[in-house]
Amino acid sequence: MTDLLDGGCACGAVRYRLGSAPMFVNCCHCRDCQRQTGSAFAINALFEADRFVLLSGETAPFAMPTDSGRPHTIHRCTACGTALWSEYGGRATLRFVRAATLDDPAALTPDVHIYTRSKLPWVALPDGVPAFEAYYDSRTLWPAASLERRRVLFG
Ligand SMILES: [Zn+2]
Ligand SMILES: [Zn+2]
Repeated sequence: MTDLLDGGCACGAVRYRLGSAPMFVNCCHCRDCQRQTGSAFAINALFEADRFVLLSGETAPFAMPTDSGRPHTIHRCTACGTALWSEYGGRATLRFVRAATLDDPAALTPDVHIYTRSKLPWVALPDGVPAFEAYYDSRTLWPAASLERRRVLFG
């Protein structure tokens, strides 16, 4: 079971286990992610909701304002408030898991950097990883197996 990815919140109440590798890992440099993390970017690993197994603790949803008006909900530990995953567009079957909450935060590396138009100037992006000023076309970037996983979710 070496492929298990475990993680949790800062206080230890929430523990979770991811049942597989992610579909894709987005490193988002948008202003919303910067404000919501108080940092330079958010690292979001995309998983089917049923591959995110909550082992302990409780989470609560927080509705975030968005420019687009599309819903964005952050799920946080009810005890310490650590953000654990997001849902976008009201699509609860797809979770954007905050990858740095993994016990091994180096276990996943970004497959793409997005919204680099608001990237902080001192952040240097690695060579060889695609980067986009705004969002990107997942159909041209995701591996076929990941596109199939998403198709199963959304048809
Ligand atoms: Zn907590
Ligand atoms: Zn973002």
